[in-house]
Amino acid sequence: MLNTPVRYLKGIGEKRERLFRKLSLKAQEDLLYFFPRRYQDRLEITTISKLEPGFYFLFQGKVLSKTEFKGFRQKNVLKVLISDDTSSILCIWFNQPYLANYFDKGKEFVFYGKVMRYDGILQVNSPEFEENNFSQGILPIYPLKEIFTQRYFRRIIRDVLEKNISKLSDILPFNIRKKHDLINSAAALNNIHFPKDHKILEQAYKRIAFEEFFLISIPFILQRLISKKKLGIRHIIDDSLVNRVRNNFGFELTFDQQQVLEEIKNDMVKDYPMQRLLQGEVGSGKTVVSSLASAFSISGGYQIALMCPTEILAYQHYNNFKRWFLNTGYEILFLSGSIKAKKNIYKDITSGKAKIIIGTHALLEDNVKFNNLGLIIIDEQHKFGLVQRNLLSQKAFYNLKVWPDVLIMTATPIPRTLALTIYGDLDISTIRQLPDGRLRPETVVYNKENSDSAFQFVLGQVRLGRQAYIIYPLINESEKLELKAAVKMYEYLQSGIFKGLSVGLIHGRLKETEQKKIMDEFRDGKIKVLVATSILEIGVDVPNATCMIVEHAERFGLSQLHQLRGRIARSQNNSYFILIANPKSEDSVLRISAICHTCDGFEIAQKDLEIRGPGEFLGSLQHGLSELKVADPIRQIDLLKAAREEAKSLIEKDPNLMLRQNQALKQALEKKMPNYKEFNKLT
Ligand code: ADP
Ligand code: MG
Repeated sequence: MLNTPVRYLKGIGEKRERLFRKLSLKAQEDLLYFFPRRYQDRLEITTISKLEPGFYFLFQGKVLSKTEFKGFRQKNVLKVLISDDTSSILCIWFNQPYLANYFDKGKEFVFYGKVMRYDGILQVNSPEFEENNFSQGILPIYPLKEIFTQRYFRRIIRDVLEKNISKLSDILPFNIRKKHDLINSAAALNNIHFPKDHKILEQAYKRIAFEEFFLISIPFILQRLISKKKLGIRHIIDDSLVNRVRNNFGFELTFDQQQVLEEIKNDMVKDYPMQRLLQGEVGSGKTVVSSLASAFSISGGYQIALMCPTEILAYQHYNNFKRWFLNTGYEILFLSGSIKAKKNIYKDITSGKAKIIIGTHALLEDNVKFNNLGLIIIDEQHKFGLVQRNLLSQKAFYNLKVWPDVLIMTATPIPRTLALTIYGDLDISTIRQLPDGRLRPETVVYNKENSDSAFQFVLGQVRLGRQAYIIYPLINESEKLELKAAVKMYEYLQSGIFKGLSVGLIHGRLKETEQKKIMDEFRDGKIKVLVATSILEIGVDVPNATCMIVEHAERFGLSQLHQLRGRIARSQNNSYFILIANPKSEDSVLRISAICHTCDGFEIAQKDLEIRGPGEFLGSLQHGLSELKVADPIRQIDLLKAAREEAKSLIEKDPNLMLRQNQALKQALEKKMPNYKEFNKLT
């Protein structure tokens, strides 16, 4: 059985099982889907006389003799002399005395390893070896983190394949496979592990990539299908409230903002529930737009809820909404986990006295019962999964019996095809321009050696009345990484270059109330220089803060750096984004160069995707679905489109997956996507 624990395989006991766990391998199925990182081509055996030092070879021979002795520092050394008809070679192992038993004189083996010549003698250190002849062919190399040997692991995989492959039912129906020229899943799995040749390996990859795209698309397609059929609120908008809020802004909306506002309005006045993603860079004015959408809903008598991933962000929105709804007579409530006296808050939410409710995931708690929730706004969507998103809608539906409108805001813009995949259930609105007159921050790179002048520059700006952030990758110092950590540097800077100025410290291990207090002081200008970790990445908005130094910038992801930069592009003053970086790896050089070359969030996202590869990029979005292991949404766009289309037509024909040919798919969805069952229950 596929979900049988690995323990039931031959030769795996409790101890080994624990090692498998380190690689997140629990069930036999996990092994089937644990793919090689790369392959070694071992199609040909080379005779020993033709071996050349410096290269990897596959060779074969008989044991002529073996010796064992204690070498340097009492290390056990095993030397085995191997010969074929043409010549001989010495195979050497260190500290693996048990291997001696394998090499009985006269026995024949196949070896694979890097050949060297040492003191004139041809030799190879710790070659892989096998008594039988399987080592020929294209061999998988797994990402084993040195927990197992490749040889051992291959044996296990063979065993798992043998035991399970015949029982595997294909999740892709036959007609889809045929139409897109895809091999069946048994062949794909057999060949992704042990390819017969390069051609079938390619087919195996194509098949598995298609399957991944297919699976990842389904929940969103389902969600969209379901939501379009639901009955929503036909909002009736009273412009006088909307105009009062607009007047409180003190600025005009940009063209893009007006455009997306129209799209939102158009949804809200229709009787289906809006499911819209509003994407735009940090500072592009999404929250401003969401406040007008709120006014639409409130003007018709409904409540609105705004949910954020962090308390800092929620509190900031709360403050903004208070300004924007000033003198409109509507009550605004703030709710987060750290608020003690919640009873009255719950009461005001339930009675409908509070019209605007802003908070963290505390809004999801059972005690929060809305009176008539008409619009849900979710900030930073990727931190919340589909299920959480649905929970709020569910609450609203509970007493209204119609579905609320949902607006999701994200500052992680992604290329459109990708958006279709991971936000497939949503309509998308995009703000591309920043508010007029706003200057892009100047981005400068320093290295460790000349970082003093960066700090001098910032000191100068602070003396001119501006505020600054200094960002570190870690909270506490770690000896291993030798990184300057926020806490230590806070003390150092406070008594050093920024002596006499008020310096603050903020990081994720402070209590949320403490964080809030510090942010308030920074916003009020009491704190001039704020030392922080990347906690600042999301949302914080202090227009007077125009400088940011990021130390060890090479340690940050590209999108992360861009988000940080967004913190200081908030006013019409010049702003400075200063990186202190000593990039060493190729990736970090690419990241630093990209951040200097463009300020466009979409370009940054594209670059980030290229540098990191889709797996990690998507992983960081935490969209709650199984990661793509093989599929590459950038290079395989056509395959992605095809898989999405097929998934869509399959779901439209059989939304509840009742047909017999879709049973394997149904099971896979339930198993691979922990959310799926729950998700199905909700919808
Ligand atoms: P986002 O939510 O996309 O990060 P916000 O809505 O918080 O952006 O806006 C960022 C900053 O820009 C806020 O200080 C806001 O008041 C200001 N802002 C938004 N839209 C405009 C505009 N059209 N003109 C001038 N300033 C604006
Ligand atoms: Mg509507």
